[in-house]
Amino acid sequence: MKILLVYSHPNPGSFNHAIKETIVSELTACGHDVKVRDLYAIGFDPVLKSTDFLLAQQGKVADDVKLEQDFIVWSDMVVFVHPVWWFSLPAILKGYIDRVFNYGFAYTIDEKGVRGLLNGKKVLILSTTGGDEKTYTDTGMFKSLSQTIDGGIFTFCGFEVTEHKFFTSVPYVSGDERKKMLEQVTAIARALAVN
Ligand code: FAD
Repeated sequence: MKILLVYSHPNPGSFNHAIKETIVSELTACGHDVKVRDLYAIGFDPVLKSTDFLLAQQGKVADDVKLEQDFIVWSDMVVFVHPVWWFSLPAILKGYIDRVFNYGFAYTIDEKGVRGLLNGKKVLILSTTGGDEKTYTDTGMFKSLSQTIDGGIFTFCGFEVTEHKFFTSVPYVSGDERKKMLEQVTAIARALAVN
């Protein structure tokens, strides 16, 4: 498969970085064609501006948006690796969605209503949290994040969500626990069919 990895963490020593390195290495070893867009490293501008709206009126997008859309078009599957910040996406990733998943590219509205345009593509989301699993379950926060992120963004745009995996309590567990999490990342990568 052609797999695009969209990565959102500013710290090269972070656990998210370890997840990114692990999944890229395993997917590549399994024979997938992998491309990485590290949003901080490329300095992606996440701010949706008046110029974006002006271009949209002419059926155009900014060059940096077009570049990212071309990566999405190329891919069979998009993998997002990110921490949960304020029970949502990091701002840089939210802005990537705002600008790249725009009207006419990711969704449209016609006589039948709102329709996703990215059908046939899969998405896998790997999220880390500081909060613990019990609290996320008891408060309904897993369900909320799945509704807003999986449903509100990806299913809405036509993607098939294969999995949204949460690694919880990441800063507070032992090194061995985090090692096991990386083993789970490897297993998730191995479970993806090559074609
Ligand atoms: P890091 O803190 O970078 O790393 C955790 C530990 O893993 C460190 O000890 C690091 O040295 C170690 N590590 C790095 N590489 C490896 C490796 N290869 N093997 C083993 N260990 C390794 N949490 C919530 O639950 N809900 C929220 O709403 C929320 N909001 C937040 C908002 C902000 C602005 C911030 C900064 C944090 C927030 N958090 C929240 C917490 C956040 O989700 C977690 O801190 C984050 O998910 C942990 O992932 P990380 O990659 O940043 O871990």
